[in-house]
Amino acid sequence: MANNCLEMNGEEYKLAVQLLGRSPRMPFSVKTRCPDGSPQVLIADPVFLEDGIWKPFPAFIWLVCPRLKLLVSDLEQAGYVRKYSQQLEEDADFRERFLRSQAQISGIRLELARAIFPGELPEHIKEILLETTVAGSRDFRGVKCLHSHLAHELAYGGNPIGAEVIRIVGHCEKAHACGSIKTGGSRI
Ligand SMILES: [Zn+2]
Repeated sequence: MANNCLEMNGEEYKLAVQLLGRSPRMPFSVKTRCPDGSPQVLIADPVFLEDGIWKPFPAFIWLVCPRLKLLVSDLEQAGYVRKYSQQLEEDADFRERFLRSQAQISGIRLELARAIFPGELPEHIKEILLETTVAGSRDFRGVKCLHSHLAHELAYGGNPIGAEVIRIVGHCEKAHACGSIKTGGSRI
């Protein structure tokens, strides 16, 4: 079940890279799409070979929908990273659900890496894939990046921060034509 971007057709690969804003160092695939059919969330290989060395890549879920990226950046600007970090401190139920979602993502990440890596995963790679959040942080009380949590929620569900974010910004609709929104362009 290894990702293989070569299986994507050329146009789709080009659009995904354009939405991402860079050429990724590792293979990836499209996990979810906006209603206009354009890539919304990409899943990158959580372990990849570079210069002959296998490297772990824990922040493997990428939000690429330009509409959601803009709206989530607005929330970050408005202080929502701190708001949710505080909620993790103060609300035991929220924290419990968040930690469960991070355990879920560790499991998915490890399973994907095992399918990609030839042979037994080295301990140092396994450790990083098991002991980081979906945002690639070792701080399980930290939120770091709302984009990662929303991408996690859209791709697999179960992330209470991502669920809050999508409740606020709203799901994409066909009329948003997400894939045609120019990055850095005017707001919708
Ligand atoms: Zn969208």
